Amino acid sequence: MSISQFNYSTIPFEAEALRAEVRAFISEALRDYPAVKRAYSWMGFDADFSRLLGEKGWLGMALPKRYGGAEASPFTRYVVIEELLAAGAPVSAHWIADRQSAPLLLRFGTDYQKEKYLPPICRGESYFCIGMSEPNSGSDLASIKSSAERVGDGWVVNGQKVWTTNAQHSHYMIALLRTGDKEESGRHGGMSQFIIDLSLPGVTIRPIADLAGGEHFNEVFLDNVQLDACALVGEEGNGWGQVTAELAYERSGPERFLSSIAVLHTALQAIGTSADALQSREIGRITARLLTLRNMSLAVTRQLAEGQNPAWAASCVKDLGNVFEQELPEILQLLVEEQPLVGSGTDHAQVLAYLIQMAPSFSLRGGTREILRGIIARGLGLR
Ligand SMILES: Cc1cc2nc3c(=O)[nH]c(=O)nc-3n(C[C@H](O)[C@H](O)[C@H](O)COP(=O)(O)OP(=O)(O)OC[C@H]3O[C@@H](n4cnc5c(N)ncnc54)[C@H](O)[C@@H]3O)c2cc1C
Repeated sequence: MSISQFNYSTIPFEAEALRAEVRAFISEALRDYPAVKRAYSWMGFDADFSRLLGEKGWLGMALPKRYGGAEASPFTRYVVIEELLAAGAPVSAHWIADRQSAPLLLRFGTDYQKEKYLPPICRGESYFCIGMSEPNSGSDLASIKSSAERVGDGWVVNGQKVWTTNAQHSHYMIALLRTGDKEESGRHGGMSQFIIDLSLPGVTIRPIADLAGGEHFNEVFLDNVQLDACALVGEEGNGWGQVTAELAYERSGPERFLSSIAVLHTALQAIGTSADALQSREIGRITARLLTLRNMSLAVTRQLAEGQNPAWAASCVKDLGNVFEQELPEILQLLVEEQPLVGSGTDHAQVLAYLIQMAPSFSLRGGTREILRGIIARGLGLR
C-alpha cells in the first residue's frame, strides 16, 4: 500500500505487527516500575532504558540504515511510541533527539553532521534539547536576541535560552540564533540553527524547579561559546523555515494527548469491574475522544511522511490534545472517590496529585493555546 492510499484511521499491517513485541518488552522491562513514575510520561528519565530501546532498534527507526536507523515507516515508529507512552515508560532521555533533532538533521544537515550525530541517537546514547525560547521571547519567537557572530572560520555565540527541557542531561542543543540584522533581514529572516555541544566552555546550565518540585527545564547561558563552521545546521538565514518544519514534528505526536494517560489506568483500577452508569458513560466519552485524537495525529503523521509541512494541522492536534490531557485528571477526580495526595495514599491518589500539578504546563510547552489557535485560524484563511 502506498502512503497516499493509506486510510489514516488504520495503521498499516507491517507496522501493527510490531505492537505485540513492543508491548511484551515494555511489560517485562518495567515490571516493577511504580504508577507515580509512569505519570511522568515522556518526562521520565532513564538512560539505561533509552539504551535498551536503542539495542532493540526502536530509536531513529525511520532513518536510513547507514545512519543506524531501520528505514521503517513513520507508522512503525508511531506504534512504538504509542506503546511507550501508554505504559508511561521513561523516554525523556532520547525523546527530543528521536522525535525532532534526528529528522531535522536528516533533512537539513550536512553529510558530516548526519554521520556524526545520527548513529548515537539511534543507539540511545546521545540526547538533544531545543534552544528556542528566551527571556521575553517565547510566543514571539522571531524576537530572539541570542546571536551567533562569524569569527574567522567559525562562530561565537552569546545570549540566553530558557525553559530548555533536559538541557542538564543533554549532550547537544539545537539552538535558534540571530545571525543577521533584524531590520535588514525582515521579521523572519536573519536567524539560523546551530548544534551547540553543551560541554563547551562558556555554556552554563541552571535547572528551574517546576510546580511538582521536579527539575525538567533549565536556563542556559551562552557566553562567548566558540563553534566550528560545521555547527551551522542548514542554510544561514533559513532558521525560521527550519524551525517551523521542526515544530510540526513537535506538535502532532501521541505525546500531545497521552501526557496524563496514567491517571486513566489508575482510575480504571480503582473502579474495577463495578462501574456505575455515570462512570461507564464518562469512560466511554474519554475513549471516543482518545480515538478521535489518535486518528487526527495519524493523519498528520501521514502528511509528514509525504513530505508536506502540516503546520496548522499539527497545531490542531496539539491544541485539542492538550485540552483533553488537561481535562482528564479533572474528570477522573470527579469520577473516583479519592482525593489527590502527594507522596502517600493509593496509586490513584498520588498519580492524580502529580498530574493536577503538571497539567497546566501541557498547553504552554511546545507553543501556547492562543498561539496555536492563531496558526489554525491562519490555516483556515480566517486571518
Ligand atoms: C514544561 C515546559 C517545557 C518547555 N520546554 C521548552 C524547550 O525545551 N525549549 C524551548 O525553547 N522552550 C521550551 N518551553 C517554553 C515554551 O515554548 C514557552 O513557554 C511558550 O512558547 C510560551 O512562551 P512564554 O513562556 O515566553 O510566554 P509568553 O509568550 O510571554 O506568553 C504569555 C501568555 O500570553 C499569550 N500570548 C502571547 N502572545 C500572544 C498573541 N500574539 N496572541 C494571543 N496571546 C498571546 C500566550 O498564549 C500566553 O498565555 C517549555 C515550556 C514549558 C512550560
